Amino acid sequence: MKADFYETLGVQKGADDKELKAAFRKLAMQYHPDRNPGDDACEHKFKEINEAYETLKDPQKRAAYDRFGHAAFENGGMNGAGHGFAAGGFADIFEDIFGDMMGGRRQRSSGGRERGADLRYNMEITLEEAFTGKTAQIRVPASVTCTECSGSGAKPGTQPTTCNTCSGSGRVRATQGFFSIERTCPTCQGRGQIIKDPCQKCSGHGRVIEERSLSVNIPAGIDDGTRIRLAGEGEAGMRGGPAGDLYIFLSVKPHELFQRDGADLYCKVPISMTTAALGGSFEVTTLDGSQTRVKVPEGSQNGRQFRLKGKGMPVLRQPSVGDLYIQVSVETPQNLTRRQRELLEEFEKLSSQENSPQSSGFFSRMKDFFESFGER
Ligand SMILES: [Zn+2]
Ligand SMILES: [Zn+2]
Repeated sequence: MKADFYETLGVQKGADDKELKAAFRKLAMQYHPDRNPGDDACEHKFKEINEAYETLKDPQKRAAYDRFGHAAFENGGMNGAGHGFAAGGFADIFEDIFGDMMGGRRQRSSGGRERGADLRYNMEITLEEAFTGKTAQIRVPASVTCTECSGSGAKPGTQPTTCNTCSGSGRVRATQGFFSIERTCPTCQGRGQIIKDPCQKCSGHGRVIEERSLSVNIPAGIDDGTRIRLAGEGEAGMRGGPAGDLYIFLSVKPHELFQRDGADLYCKVPISMTTAALGGSFEVTTLDGSQTRVKVPEGSQNGRQFRLKGKGMPVLRQPSVGDLYIQVSVETPQNLTRRQRELLEEFEKLSSQENSPQSSGFFSRMKDFFESFGER
């Protein structure tokens, strides 16, 4: 059972952004892995704190969490049909808070431009779809640059003004004893600009949440666990910064009949004892929908494998194709009628060692082994 995000951060349900940030900052400092090296419990707690803050600081995610709880972010929770979103990464959020304390690793040009967060989209496809490849239409909710103010955040017709505290640099210097510390300007939060009259559409954020439709090309032969990167299709940047990327995480559903190993496919086919003994054939439908007849030579043993060349999976971005391996399993007859039993008993009487060289060989070796004990 996952802990409640509000409880994790130790805040009330109605906490505002400031309270959230303060609570997160305090806890993150306390549990940061650098301060507690080798302490797994602290690391776990740190991750929980991060996750809780990442969700609650985003108004859209917070609203979803308030309505649906943790279920909102589980696979399929937010959009159904096995799709789940998670914005940003661990590093992103970390630098968001600590960037200014850690010597400003984050690249912040004047005007506070920030790259948008990367988005993750989970997609599940069938083995047939992986075989043929497909073009998938997906809908991605992402923040995009506000068209009303072109991302400036200021009401159309007005301009953001330069921050007086930092003269537009976004950073201020404070001297404490021997140290001179540079930190983010508290007046403009590092933007270098003040918005007196915020744009109504985006409330001064410069971005709005929109659902975009994208068409994604899934190439034939794609494997489970493949990641497709769509550059610039993630969240819009802040104040003119570049957009993040969208990553599609593909998983291929297990197939009822075929198991996949790279480009090769495997299929187990049960055949009757008589087909195995007398010989025969059966038909298999391959992934391209065509049928292929497999011949079973007489005297085939259980586990015998037949290779159908070029009937496997296509190799990603290559002209070659894998093979399909058919493995037969011989089914011993059950629920015999009286007549069948008679026939098999008669067959048994007529059987010689030549009919079953493997078992006769095995039992003669077993006999030798037993006799070797008498000689000791
Ligand atoms: Zn706007
Ligand atoms: Zn400032």
